Amino acid sequence: MDTNRQFVLAQRPEGKPSDDDFDLVEAEVPDPGPREVLVRTRYLSVDPYMRGRMRAGESYAEPWAVGDVLQGAVVGAVVESNHPEFAAGDTVTGNLRWADYAVADGDDLVGVETGGVSDSAALGVLGMPGRTAYFGVTDVLDPDPGDTVVVSAAAGAVGSVVGQIASLNGCRVVGIAGGDEKVAHLEDDLGFDVGVNYAEADVSEALADAAPDGVDGYFDNVGGPITDAVFEHLNVRASVAVCGQIALYNDEGVPTGPRKLHTLVEKRASVEGFLVGDYAPRFEEATERLVEWVQNGDVAFRETVVDGLENAPDAFVGLFEGENVGKQVVRVEAEFDA
Ligand code: NDP
Repeated sequence: MDTNRQFVLAQRPEGKPSDDDFDLVEAEVPDPGPREVLVRTRYLSVDPYMRGRMRAGESYAEPWAVGDVLQGAVVGAVVESNHPEFAAGDTVTGNLRWADYAVADGDDLVGVETGGVSDSAALGVLGMPGRTAYFGVTDVLDPDPGDTVVVSAAAGAVGSVVGQIASLNGCRVVGIAGGDEKVAHLEDDLGFDVGVNYAEADVSEALADAAPDGVDGYFDNVGGPITDAVFEHLNVRASVAVCGQIALYNDEGVPTGPRKLHTLVEKRASVEGFLVGDYAPRFEEATERLVEWVQNGDVAFRETVVDGLENAPDAFVGLFEGENVGKQVVRVEAEFDA
């Protein structure tokens, strides 16, 4: 059997992570114990929240120690199973490792059922990011038909689905993203009413045109100056769903403190943070709806695929440079013998 390459955290990043923060080491392919399953990685997900796990301090996910093997969502093939629900050859997903192989308790794995959609979609539109969009829009933001909804990091894994679900709810949807190609993708492929390229435009000025009746719902993936600009356009009783603050993840502390909160007073607006994990009892509901929407063409999706486990750190760092359109995944399977 192959050796097992795996990434460990070499040191804690300072600012934006770099290659020096990751070490690719070789280990034995692990043996599955009772009720455990050996999984060969086909696709690995890199996600912004992993930056929080690289810090010593608390984030909502437990910090990794220096030297720990990095973990992440994987779609993989069962190689050997000591669990009654899985057999060799099954395709499964779970929180495994940045590695060629990993063992997991079979109770923590789920069979991949994407209804004919690509298996890698279980890491994106039909996985955690899609569910985040689903609950963030339907439960947290809960917009009315006719509302104007703005989403930041709109061309990314979560944001692209957020906008489409809001459109299905009859909202006017404005997406903010970095680059003309992303804006064209939002408007031409995903049905957003307007895309705003924050790299070129003054976001506040652009929103005056894109959201002439003001903003009723804001799905915040980024924080920082983009969120400041959106806050200037909130309507009375607007809702803000705080999903993520990627613009701040590489900062040590938040340099300017909570910003623009006076707007919330004037507008009697509400701001609610949420974590997709809290919706675990309803994951099946979300997956069923998302599969249905993707199958019938109501929700389109794109993936940015990087080949090779060794390129996982670059794919991860690329999230902070806007290199991905849609879900960023790493394809590991191509490296295995057939
Ligand atoms: P994306 O696929 O959206 O990738 C990240 C994107 O963020 C990049 O493509 C880039 O797009 C944008 N970005 C990066 N740096 C900045 C910056 N400084 N300013 C503005 N935009 C920036 O990632 P996900 O969809 O996986 O995650 C989106 C957000 O949702 C993250 O904040 C993440 O932490 C959060 N999240 C929260 C969850 C929860 O349970 N609350 C669950 C899942 C995700 P661009 O080119 O447009 O700048």
